Amino acid sequence: METHLVYIAAGTNLGNRLENLQFAAQLLSPAVKILRSSRLYQTEPWGYEEQADFLNLVWEAETALTPDSLLGFLKSIEKRMGREQTVRYGPRIIDLDILLYDQVILENEWLTVPHDQLHNRRFVLAPLCDLIPDGIHPKSQLRFSEILEALPPSVCDVVSESFQFDHPIFRFGQKTYLMGILNLTADSFSQDGILAKSGSFIDNALNQANSFLTDGADILDLGAESTRPGFSPVDAKEEIRCLIPVIEKIKNRHPNTILSIDTTKVAVARAALEAGADWINDVSGASDDAMAELIAEAECPLVLMRFEKLKPHQSTLTQVIVQLNTLVAHSLSRGIKKEQILLDPGLGFGTNSWQNVEILNGLQPVKQLGFPLLVGPSRKSFIGNLLQKPVSERVSGTAAATAISVLYGADILRLHDVKFMKEFLFMTDLLKN
Ligand code: ADP
Ligand code: MG
Repeated sequence: METHLVYIAAGTNLGNRLENLQFAAQLLSPAVKILRSSRLYQTEPWGYEEQADFLNLVWEAETALTPDSLLGFLKSIEKRMGREQTVRYGPRIIDLDILLYDQVILENEWLTVPHDQLHNRRFVLAPLCDLIPDGIHPKSQLRFSEILEALPPSVCDVVSESFQFDHPIFRFGQKTYLMGILNLTADSFSQDGILAKSGSFIDNALNQANSFLTDGADILDLGAESTRPGFSPVDAKEEIRCLIPVIEKIKNRHPNTILSIDTTKVAVARAALEAGADWINDVSGASDDAMAELIAEAECPLVLMRFEKLKPHQSTLTQVIVQLNTLVAHSLSRGIKKEQILLDPGLGFGTNSWQNVEILNGLQPVKQLGFPLLVGPSRKSFIGNLLQKPVSERVSGTAAATAISVLYGADILRLHDVKFMKEFLFMTDLLKN
């Protein structure tokens, strides 16, 4: 595949400006692969001065998109991030401009490359010169450092030497997040339990975490007790012994990673949070008072999953909503704040295969309860039953359930096949928006 070297300028002066840049960087990948970033600059507004200062930087990146497609893609990101059309040069959450595209010179109604203001703007030239001071402007044939030196003075200060991309930014509604499932057990239904593998348990767990993060997981969900139907119970001590060293190792290697702990036991949740875990994912919906009180005190995000058996021949959706409302009410009554809660409709928990289809069909009303929505269809038996396929052959069915979940408003998908599903989610998000 032919790729092109492009320079993209990013600017922002509304909201949390640093997070706007980090989030934009996350939305660009993989269509635009950032290779290097300039330093970060703070600059006076240009053109229209009654507004806050900007943060600016330039990315060197690789893309297979044509210039027009790249412009379309960048505009879609601006739109997704909530950019509104105001006055020309007015305040914006994010502005993404194509500065250079290989050595191409092109001008049409929508697009001018090199960017037509490149030679006038210090906030673009200064970061560009961090990357390619000796680069030549395709039109004027001048070196960028020469053009920069000739500019009249204006305020444009370096505020950071390096730009951190790996800081996960959660903006539900603007991107669907991928939670990678890390099973620290031997008997997971999905047949990928770490304990079942040969070699060092810790090394295996860490390797799995590394590859999930490289492949683009936004959150890792660690579980030391399988919750599959007919699972063998693990006592809290054993669960803690298994989890804590893994949490510590992962946090040590990847401090910005969001770790969710899949447990129903308050002692495990407490030990995990103390060891640096970020979220609790409780498949018993924090129905244990002690668990709910711990979460309230920790003020951490909590995934509340519906789990009680659904009656056949009654509305699946109504039962799901009633159960979720009950769990939410219980959590709130123990001091958990609304902002901490995410809901999971509990595919495969107390359901028959057909009820799972009905749950997926009914995600939109569940989303209207007003909480971020997590859905976990991965490799589950309803997919196996409908396709008549074993666990190892359920990726396509999982993908279909994932696509419909995204379309109906899911914010997080909990999945096993991280590499495949990351690409799948990227495409689905783009096509949806
Ligand atoms: P700004 O000039 O501050 O970037 P906008 O982002 O609103 O303002 O851009 C206005 C228009 O400029 C866009 O709709 C786009 O079609 C056009 N444009 C022309 N050349 C470029 C370029 N190289 N990069 C980005 N947008 C461009
Ligand atoms: Mg622009």
